Amino acid sequence: MAGLKCSYCGESIRYHGTPNGIEHTVFPVKNWEKLVSTVYDANNERMHEEWNVPGPYLYRADTIWEDFEDDYFEVWICPHCGTVAVFDNSGIHVRAVYTPIKDVVEINRYAEKYVVFSDYEWEKIADSSIPVSEIPTKFKISYHIIANDDYIWLLSSDFESDCCKVYKRIAIAAE
Ligand SMILES: [Zn+2]
Repeated sequence: MAGLKCSYCGESIRYHGTPNGIEHTVFPVKNWEKLVSTVYDANNERMHEEWNVPGPYLYRADTIWEDFEDDYFEVWICPHCGTVAVFDNSGIHVRAVYTPIKDVVEINRYAEKYVVFSDYEWEKIADSSIPVSEIPTKFKISYHIIANDDYIWLLSSDFESDCCKVYKRIAIAAE
């Protein structure tokens, strides 16, 4: 996916793989916790008793793309209006669009929690030859969000923190 028309403001969004703050990588927290607790043996076979077995932890962050491909998805943030386009797992089709609103909407703390990496940060992770278990200490999560079908709540720091921005789901414009 190299280009998209924003469903809210109609502007064209271009992305050619160079980090520019448009593309973001999103993991549901349960998938992220699985990723960063996965350890591999000397043959790079995934261990079952994760964390109970001493190293070597050979598994590297630069293979996340292939080994955890179903565990995350991409979103694009429109540089013109801040609207968020959520891609499906194929990375080709937009499955939902949320636009920033000024209203105060109480956070649904029971909704799904996600960690988000900006393309700057994600590129650093995916280029790193380190065990995935070291990612939390070496890289910073760009955003913590809570989301349901109707809203995204962008949190000011961690999952316990206050909301600093609300996005409301809008209908997707026909292509
Ligand atoms: Zn826009």
